[in-house]
Amino acid sequence: MGGAPQKVGPVVGMAGGGQLARMAQQAAIGLGVSLRVLAGSPDESAAKVVSDVRIGDDRSLDDLSAFAKGCDVVTFDHEHVPGDHIEALEAAGTPCRPGAAALLHAQDKLVMRQRLSELGAPCPRFAPVPPSAPLAMIESFGLETGWPVVLKATRGGYDGKGVWILDGLTAETARLVADLLDQGLRLMLEEHVPFRRELAALVARSPHGQGAAYPIVETVQENGICVEVLAPAPGLDEDLAAEAQRLALDIADKLGVTGLLAVELFEGEHGLLVNELAMRPHNSGHWTIEGSRTSQFEQHLRAVLDLPLGDTRPTAPYVVMANVLGGDDPDVYSRYIHVMAHDPGVKVNMYGKDVRPGRKIGHVTVLGDDLADLRERARHAADYLRWGPSVDRSGARLDGRRT
Ligand code: ADP
Repeated sequence: MGGAPQKVGPVVGMAGGGQLARMAQQAAIGLGVSLRVLAGSPDESAAKVVSDVRIGDDRSLDDLSAFAKGCDVVTFDHEHVPGDHIEALEAAGTPCRPGAAALLHAQDKLVMRQRLSELGAPCPRFAPVPPSAPLAMIESFGLETGWPVVLKATRGGYDGKGVWILDGLTAETARLVADLLDQGLRLMLEEHVPFRRELAALVARSPHGQGAAYPIVETVQENGICVEVLAPAPGLDEDLAAEAQRLALDIADKLGVTGLLAVELFEGEHGLLVNELAMRPHNSGHWTIEGSRTSQFEQHLRAVLDLPLGDTRPTAPYVVMANVLGGDDPDVYSRYIHVMAHDPGVKVNMYGKDVRPGRKIGHVTVLGDDLADLRERARHAADYLRWGPSVDRSGARLDGRRT
């Protein structure tokens, strides 16, 4: 019999066609729910694998409204959809999760700092930079906290873009600040935190108010990009881990987050400080695809659909995830044979993205109980996928170039 296909389950709309939407598709298949993606072009990572793709601009209200028609709920694979557009979708009757009021705290670092400070969450000292007298503020902040200080664009940063370390009030600083203000950016300052390492707390919260927390992980960054995640964070004091989970659940609750919330943290001599928030699946949670009973992508779908949340327990004592960055040779597939033959335990997740040097194009995951061994295996696989045989087993390039 012909006719329109029967509607099976709800439709979750995800604005943004990047790798997070692509990996959400995998979880949607398992749950038997439909995912619709708003992608900027058919070449985007998720657009290549999702059957219900709408091509449009997720910063245009017209495109968003057309996309949202027929969606039971709308969620996001990044934080760049304007808040007033989200409010307009909500006013027109489409639930958006997270909602505009919560998401603002993942869009604007200054708003986030002000709100978290009000809530009593531990944050680095910070100050807005007034465009009328930026240098005077930078100087007085530097004198108060000590140099260096961290200058940030309040909006639009990612992978360390939008973050500058200032060693003092030099001519170079003055030029940089003038240039950023000319671009129309709003700026803020933070004390430079001498952290021991970076951690991330990933939690989910449903509209019903149910919360679930994943184990706290350590994230390792190079040149502003997360390159490795260790789950759970090795050697982390149990009380501190519980405190980090409580802090993230509490922030999710107080801000009214629905869906996932990742809280990036600094672990320092005096405990934890919040760095920033993300309200979507997060790079620090990719390990959960193979390493937890419920992947973060499934958890996000459950949360935005207001379903009971899944078990967050890990499936192994340690899980290590390493990001695969693009190298010089785009033919990554030709290197699978080595990686897979060399180590059948490595799980390869690629995003179908064009390979550009330094771009995140995938990740690998290994799990087991010997952390040092897992780290070496993950690094080898990620480096090999990037560079091919010119990298030895320790990850060092044989031709002496930096990886
Ligand atoms: P992005 O939005 O680009 O991820 P973040 O605010 O997370 O930017 O900063 C990127 C990186 O810069 C952090 O992961 C951390 O390594 C460093 N950083 C950010 N803020 C501070 C700070 N106040 N003190 C020291 N390092 C910082």
